[in-house]
Amino acid sequence: MRNMQHVGGPLRRMLPRAQLLAAGRTTIFKRFAFAGRPEKVEQKLNQARALPTTPARTRFAPSPTGYLHLGSLRTALFNYLLAKATGGQFLLRLEDTDQVSNIPSYLSDAEQRLYEDMKWAGLQWDEGPDIGGEFGPYKQSDRLPIYRQHVKELLDQDKAYRCFCSPERLDEIKKLAMANGEEMTGYDGHCSHIPVPESERRAASGEAHCVRFKTHGSSGNFKPLFSDLVYGAYKPPPGSVDDFIIMKRDGFPTYHFANVVDDHLMEITHVIRGAEWLVSTPRHVGLYDAFGWKSPTFAHVGLLTDQNKQKLSKRHGDIDIASYRNKGYLPEGLLNYVVLLGWSPGKGTKGTSEVMDLQQMVEKFHLRFTRGDIRVSNKLDFLNNKHKSKFLAQSPEDLQAQVVPPLALAIRNLEKERDHLSTGPAPPQLSENIDNDNVAATLGQFVPAMATAGDDAAGLDYNAAYIGKVFELDQKTYVNAASYVKRTRYLFWTVPTELYRQTLHEGLRDVRCLFVRSPAAAAAENGAMEHQHTDSEMDAAGIAGLFADALRDIPADESSWTKECLEEVLNPLIKSIYGMRTSPETEEPWGFHMLRWFLCALQPGPALIPSMVVLGKTETMNRIQRAIDSIA
Ligand code: GLU
Repeated sequence: MRNMQHVGGPLRRMLPRAQLLAAGRTTIFKRFAFAGRPEKVEQKLNQARALPTTPARTRFAPSPTGYLHLGSLRTALFNYLLAKATGGQFLLRLEDTDQVSNIPSYLSDAEQRLYEDMKWAGLQWDEGPDIGGEFGPYKQSDRLPIYRQHVKELLDQDKAYRCFCSPERLDEIKKLAMANGEEMTGYDGHCSHIPVPESERRAASGEAHCVRFKTHGSSGNFKPLFSDLVYGAYKPPPGSVDDFIIMKRDGFPTYHFANVVDDHLMEITHVIRGAEWLVSTPRHVGLYDAFGWKSPTFAHVGLLTDQNKQKLSKRHGDIDIASYRNKGYLPEGLLNYVVLLGWSPGKGTKGTSEVMDLQQMVEKFHLRFTRGDIRVSNKLDFLNNKHKSKFLAQSPEDLQAQVVPPLALAIRNLEKERDHLSTGPAPPQLSENIDNDNVAATLGQFVPAMATAGDDAAGLDYNAAYIGKVFELDQKTYVNAASYVKRTRYLFWTVPTELYRQTLHEGLRDVRCLFVRSPAAAAAENGAMEHQHTDSEMDAAGIAGLFADALRDIPADESSWTKECLEEVLNPLIKSIYGMRTSPETEEPWGFHMLRWFLCALQPGPALIPSMVVLGKTETMNRIQRAIDSIA
């Protein structure tokens, strides 16, 4: 026992003193190290997975090599929740020293977009590049002197060395190792033997070099012990960690080095990140040990895969967070969706409902994550809908403000498509069963309200107030912007004459004529059929004329052209119209069926009379006239 050192902390374990000294540790730090029977290990892990009792400092540390996507939003969210659940701080740090030269120009707005996307999601950070903080700067490219000073510290202690190998030589040794069938193709340690004075002289004369970490220390002993909260004890396969680069030839630190230095200096206590970083963590722990620093607690969460168990890729446009916003999903819905990818409130103690806003997630948070790959679920629409309903009940104006911009975007996309079709090749044959791809081909011009100037204040091409009215009309059915615009398209666009013709033919198939009840029949109790001989036989144009006559006298102003007034005038007329049977598909009374034809060529959509209110008198009357004209 003399050679063993007691390691404090919640999970005590004896570590060989030699090992600690080899790692250059003068102080003994609390750390987790699990050994023993699997069930015991699991038990210990479970204890470690309890929330810390002191405030956690966590960070989200993206590189500007892509936009925020589902996986990174989830990482940010877990870190946010841990900080907030323990009364700690959540930091944003931009890791922009590695690969910067490889960032394609279309990503030049990545930093700006990161802030926008995070704010949209509602994950406000306590310290960060844009707002500063006690431990700044928070952009790694602004911290270069700090990394240089720390590299020097390791060089001075013989824990790092300069490597003058040319890229060609490094390529060569890699190829050779591969040709020999060696699994590990890392650095061969060539420059580790250069005497320090020579190394210094060569560096001073300006010879290009990088700096490598002496992974195996002077004792050749490299056993970075760490236990991951998700995956348990993790040891790299022997020989898998070479003398890795900490400072590149261009004077920039590598990700591994800058990440460790910053996590230490910024006093990060917990690192939750994607499982792709698990294999890198022994290097990080090696660096913490070399500096004599305590490493944070790590939790590597399972990678997200698609339904075919393939890794979700950043390049997949659909998983970019802004694309969810543009589609009209609510941040609450999206956050709720991602929090359930590898975590569940069910294992907590405070209720198991999966529908949660951010505050409820904070309240229910714990560190028991699912181990292994996580297949993304299809709960997004369901959860988004739940949050939409909650919003509708609590603050409908806020909901509308969030939904109008994506609706405007969906309208613009469809309008572009429509434009393209009308100027491009002949539109596909119209059909009553309009499928998704065909929608643009079934649209007329914009209704006048849409053609009026856009709302500059809201940064929209179109009239935001009008779009808001259309949203209010049928908000209960809203799932996302594109599907909503499709469903309500005839509130934004007129009905083309050709569609009137075709749908009339389809819609009135099998019915020879419609009847309008005589006033005597309408007054009688016992149904229309007995009164056919006194009722007027009418064709579609005749019935359209009746509607036009009934509506003509209602003034067009908003206080007259109301739902109540329209119902009063139209309901008796609608009731008086009958055919041989109810309408074929909708089973709605023939009067309504005809009204649906005038207004939207029989396409399903929001309630008709409220739609007429939104369209206004002029457009409604125009539609009835165009419908009549289409019959001729
Ligand atoms: N910059 C790394 C990334 O892009 C951070 C990984 C970590 O959290 O340590 O994901």
